[in-house]
Amino acid sequence: MLKIGHEVVRPGKYHGDSPVTIQVPEELESVPGIPLTSREVDWYAREYPLETMNITERASRDWANAIRDQHVEMREIRKEHDRLNQPLILAARMTSEQEPTAEPTGEDVTESIKNKARELGYIEVGITAYDHRYTYQSKKDWVQFPNAICLAYEQDFEPTQTIPSIDAEIVHSSTYRTEGAAGLELAKHIQSLGYRAQVHSPNDNTGPYIPMFVAAGLGSLGACGYLLTPHVGSRCRIMIITTDANVTHDSPVDYGIHAFCQVCQVCVNRCPGRALMRDKIWWRGIEKNKLYFKRCRPVMARYLGCGICMKVCPIQKYGMATVMEHYAATGQVLGKGTHDLEGYELEGKGYFGPGEMPVFEREFFSAMPHGDTEEFAFDNFRQRAMDNGGVISDDMLEEFRTEVARGLQQSRDNIGMMQEEDYI
Ligand code: SF4
Ligand code: SF4
Repeated sequence: MLKIGHEVVRPGKYHGDSPVTIQVPEELESVPGIPLTSREVDWYAREYPLETMNITERASRDWANAIRDQHVEMREIRKEHDRLNQPLILAARMTSEQEPTAEPTGEDVTESIKNKARELGYIEVGITAYDHRYTYQSKKDWVQFPNAICLAYEQDFEPTQTIPSIDAEIVHSSTYRTEGAAGLELAKHIQSLGYRAQVHSPNDNTGPYIPMFVAAGLGSLGACGYLLTPHVGSRCRIMIITTDANVTHDSPVDYGIHAFCQVCQVCVNRCPGRALMRDKIWWRGIEKNKLYFKRCRPVMARYLGCGICMKVCPIQKYGMATVMEHYAATGQVLGKGTHDLEGYELEGKGYFGPGEMPVFEREFFSAMPHGDTEEFAFDNFRQRAMDNGGVISDDMLEEFRTEVARGLQQSRDNIGMMQEEDYI
């Protein structure tokens, strides 16, 4: 039995459930939250501000969507999601202009907001200061209020265990919509308390939110790049609401996950794209296992959004308290090496159990375009001109003009985030 270093007590899984205690073995203790160097985070935010991959990697996004659209069911799911989700995104964008519907009493409304969030079905809710260092450059002027209410909505267990699958894609999209609608309700509640509330739709992110969720004590950054929450690990979808309400901020927690992931490594071992790094590095002032995007998106595009790193995570499947208890008792990672946790099927390629991995040709990865739409348009234009002996025709110029105009329009709309935006 390992020596327990400290215990973390968290609210129960669902509203009204008893609190849950997570025992963190001493050997897994590090620091509350993500190890970071604030001075470096500041510097990167100032000199190299973040930008959404919807813009910086638009060419590969369009490429991935075109591949997904060849799959009839995937195409229908995406179309249906866009149709149902667009009104939610637009409604969320309007919330920043809405006035409170009552006078504030001046009392701290933290508990009222948290209780309402739990009633609405959010599995985690915490509050911290909105951290502008993580705002995308294209949304610098968006965020109106100083407090960030961090909200996580559980994605159903059963379909998630079938990842990658059509069922998992359906539940992934519908969870975003459900929480998006719940966020609008929560905003109305905050307005009824006398304050303003700006809903950041989960499909219209202002930046990567995981650092704020960790600061609010809602979990840890896993090696997979997702937030690992106490009850359901990465099996949740996250969003924030910013507000000027009179609230109390939460604090980060050391769940032992920063060190545990280095022992576990199941997602790293099972990722079909070999897109997850075994070792941690310092990236933009944060110590983390960096996701290798260029090896992830080609798999997501071709295999139903992939998400195997979510499926095989023991915290997702068994919950943090159970996994830590097992580790403290045995020194082992619960489920590691079993078909139940590690097995997955890739459509057209077959089943892969523990220790078995698919193999892809180099072309599988190299075919993906890079950069934003305009950069990709210029690369194509340049290549066509070279193929044409250096002669630039009117057709080439017209095609280039159309593509650049499309890219500029996309930057203005900047709507409809993909799952990848959950990662940092
Ligand atoms: S989504 Fe798939 S390819 Fe991407 S990191 Fe996760 S397991 Fe790897
Ligand atoms: S699978 Fe293991 S290493 Fe990966 S995020 Fe989950 S706990 Fe961490």
